[in-house]
Amino acid sequence: MSYFDKVRVRIAPSPTGDPHVGTAYITLFNYVFAKKHQGDLILRIEDTDQQRARASSEGLIMKSLEWLGLKWDEGPDVGGDYGPYHQSKRTEIYRKHADMLINSGHAYHCFCTSERLTELRREQMTEGRATGYDRFCRSLSAEEVQRRLSGGEPHVIRLKMPLDGLTTFRDEIRGDVSIENHLIDDQVLMKSDGFPTYHLANVVDDHLMKISHVIRAEEWISSTPKHVALYNAFGWELPQFAHMPLLRNTDRSKISKRKSPISLEFYRRKGILAPALVNFLGLMGWSFGNDVEIFTLEEMTKKFDFKGVHLGGPVFDLEKLAWLNSHYIKQMDDESFVNYLQTELFSPDTLQAIRPLVLERLSTFDQFVDQFAFFFNGSLNYAGLALIPEKVGREVFTSVMQSLLAKLDELYTWDFEHIHKLLDEHRSEHNIKAKDFFMPLRLIMTGRKDSPPLIESIVTLGREISRFRLRCALKDIEEGKI
Ligand code: GLU
Repeated sequence: MSYFDKVRVRIAPSPTGDPHVGTAYITLFNYVFAKKHQGDLILRIEDTDQQRARASSEGLIMKSLEWLGLKWDEGPDVGGDYGPYHQSKRTEIYRKHADMLINSGHAYHCFCTSERLTELRREQMTEGRATGYDRFCRSLSAEEVQRRLSGGEPHVIRLKMPLDGLTTFRDEIRGDVSIENHLIDDQVLMKSDGFPTYHLANVVDDHLMKISHVIRAEEWISSTPKHVALYNAFGWELPQFAHMPLLRNTDRSKISKRKSPISLEFYRRKGILAPALVNFLGLMGWSFGNDVEIFTLEEMTKKFDFKGVHLGGPVFDLEKLAWLNSHYIKQMDDESFVNYLQTELFSPDTLQAIRPLVLERLSTFDQFVDQFAFFFNGSLNYAGLALIPEKVGREVFTSVMQSLLAKLDELYTWDFEHIHKLLDEHRSEHNIKAKDFFMPLRLIMTGRKDSPPLIESIVTLGREISRFRLRCALKDIEEGKI
């Protein structure tokens, strides 16, 4: 009898940044697979990296997935029988499981200091050998380990990888994948701070949550043999694995925020419709068959099969997305068209946020669109604008704006105080005059010299559109259009 009595899949995002298109892509494939087999989709928040985890990011991931109609059956918000669904609340479970492996002789305490590991790595590199842990502590005597543990010496727990033989698993898309065991490092399972690594937490949770199919991005495929070794060490039945091809930028590099907007919030703000984005993500890794390109989530669910997944890296092509979106716009009836504009573009929230910024500047309402269209536009046209102050020069200006963009990319609390502080500090750091900094920025953000107050406008435009505008302006500068 199998340990798995039904299809259960999971998505396991780490809430560290913007809600990523890659998360939606993987969620979509998990969702259709689960629904096709009357299974469950579980949302588990992998927030063991407490320094990088952010509650706002978690909320946005959930909001964005809900927007796309990809709803999970179990998760931190809806509960379920296999919780808690935050890894940060499961530390005791991981400790207990690491101890189980120590007791069964499948794991060991390692006292090597980071200095020793750095030195080891340096030696391995100079000698042209493969880098990795040399399993030094694997052969310490039980007495020595006890003595050092009682002395409170810092340590990690490592998995004892089998030293010979092969680890093999079946990938639903690629077939059998094998790797020689001696090539796999003795993975750290518990860190010296007493928290688990991704490998341990992920495998323990997948097992305890009865995940029957692990469907995730290709970038994790090199971790899978380590996970299989862990399942074997525990004596647990393996799930099925499927690693989806990675989304790529148009130059075929792995999709990244430097080259394509990756935030789901961005696409929503840009006026992409949820079914169009779902359709587009479905097309990314999979063929519906018979050259059909337009399909709904329901149709994809009925038809889905891993055989239709193709491995050539799917390119996240924004023109294709826009083409699909235009199809979905045409399909909207009067009611949904009007409803969309009222709830998404001209929503009461947006209009209320704009009100204090425009009041002083409005004598009749017909000026509203003329003067404040920039609040609703996606991109602005910068060609012909005198953006670069002569005294600053193209090179310095570009680098000031580039480093500003990098800082804004990392600013997740998008309010007046934080933006004000960031801009002021950036300007003083670069020793640039207020007018040479704020006027160009005003033009980039609003397209106008006479806009409402800059920082308030940036707050209202939001994180996505503001950064997008800055990125577009930098691109125009780079291409010599400005
Ligand atoms: N936390 C990992 C991520 O952020 C999960 C990878 C997996 O699905 O195993 O994608």
